[in-house]
Amino acid sequence: MTRRFLVAATIALLACLVAGPAPAGQGAKTVAFVDVAVVPMDRNRVLENRTVVVRDGRIAEIGPAATTKVPADALRVDGRGKFLMPGLAEMHGHLPHPNLGDPIAKAFLTLFVANGVTTVRGMYGFPNHTALRESVRKGEALGPRLFVASPALSGQSVANPEAAQRLVREHKQAGYDLLKVHEGLSKASYAAVVATANEVGLRFAGHVPNDVGLEGALAARQSSVEHLDGYVEALEADDSPIKNADAKTRDEKLLEYLDERKIPTLAARTRDAGVWNAPTMALWRTFFSSETVDSLRQRPELKYVPPQMVTQWSQQRAGQLQNRDDPKGLDRVLTLRDRTLKGLADAGAKLLLASDAPQLFSVPGFSLHREMEAMASAGLTPYQVLEAGTRNAAEYLGILGEAGTVEVGKRADLILVDANPLADVRNVARRSGVMIDGAWHSLADLQKMLDQVAATVAAPPKPQ
Ligand SMILES: [Zn+2]
Repeated sequence: MTRRFLVAATIALLACLVAGPAPAGQGAKTVAFVDVAVVPMDRNRVLENRTVVVRDGRIAEIGPAATTKVPADALRVDGRGKFLMPGLAEMHGHLPHPNLGDPIAKAFLTLFVANGVTTVRGMYGFPNHTALRESVRKGEALGPRLFVASPALSGQSVANPEAAQRLVREHKQAGYDLLKVHEGLSKASYAAVVATANEVGLRFAGHVPNDVGLEGALAARQSSVEHLDGYVEALEADDSPIKNADAKTRDEKLLEYLDERKIPTLAARTRDAGVWNAPTMALWRTFFSSETVDSLRQRPELKYVPPQMVTQWSQQRAGQLQNRDDPKGLDRVLTLRDRTLKGLADAGAKLLLASDAPQLFSVPGFSLHREMEAMASAGLTPYQVLEAGTRNAAEYLGILGEAGTVEVGKRADLILVDANPLADVRNVARRSGVMIDGAWHSLADLQKMLDQVAATVAAPPKPQ
């Protein structure tokens, strides 16, 4: 039941049709957030009454509001009563398909920026994504800093270990930042991916192929596991009578033979292997819940994706609900996922904030706020949730020296929020503005960007 449903659920809808030109991210070279509470995310604390000066895209100074001089040429942002935190990272996002064209791809990035998402790890690569990454880097497009995974290495794209070796080298050559591993890879092909990836110096991340299993992924030190893939299966009791049964029987019966007491051990092994998890909790809740199409269609952020996408999601959802033959089993999987996540956090295994948008009523940018709520409701503290989306993401990406926290010298990717995010992660959505790479966008600017996206996506699509 679990695996079959998981696979069906993760066949991603990759046709991201969000359109519209992105407004240029222009702003003053020097910006001062005056008398603001800083949530630095170096540890669980708030620094009250600070003034933060940003110059040329970097945090130049953080000091007591009473004594820190605001430079004469600075744009002053009143920080009283507000909190300044690092920008968020979407660590499992999907960037648009190349068929949609460059302007559309750039507009798509607007949704991230408007939601305070300043870094994105694109987890399903197409050849245009490296160019998109570069145009953001050069400042030609407004968008989050991009890290792009290769096209998926799956049972479909990789016929044998030789093909795996060849593709890994090609993806390295093409400039991808990491390799995406996916369903269906054989043990031998996976081993070839791992060996060649290590040889050429590329990380690999993604699903846990059936043949490999969680144990295999941990042993190979897969850099991140997506969707908590393989964890429920790894909870199979030692005395399970279906260990050698056929795939169909195992699929149907596995939930009867799980042992939750294995969670702490599994979590500790994950930590010790240095394997990260990008759990995508909210999307799985949608997949496995009984929420109706009508209810899902009420989500206000759906106006920022093309209506045909919502129609497609509605049909997909209707199909899921029709085939929902084991609601109790699905509830059980959701509970196990929450407990696994909590177990990983308790063990100190590293977590990443990740939503897998756009997929089934999850809209880029907006979906991360839903994801934070889902992680919190699994029992994580607000600090643990925010850490997954800020500091941890930067650490995973190898950029903690220049991003991920609010500290002098770091890249000015910031969110100004109206209430303490360490008290409640929902406060991150109460924005006063977003700074990306030193450029300030007030709430009014962000709303204008969103309005433009809404207008564009409402228009009928142009033939490609
Ligand atoms: Zn995905």
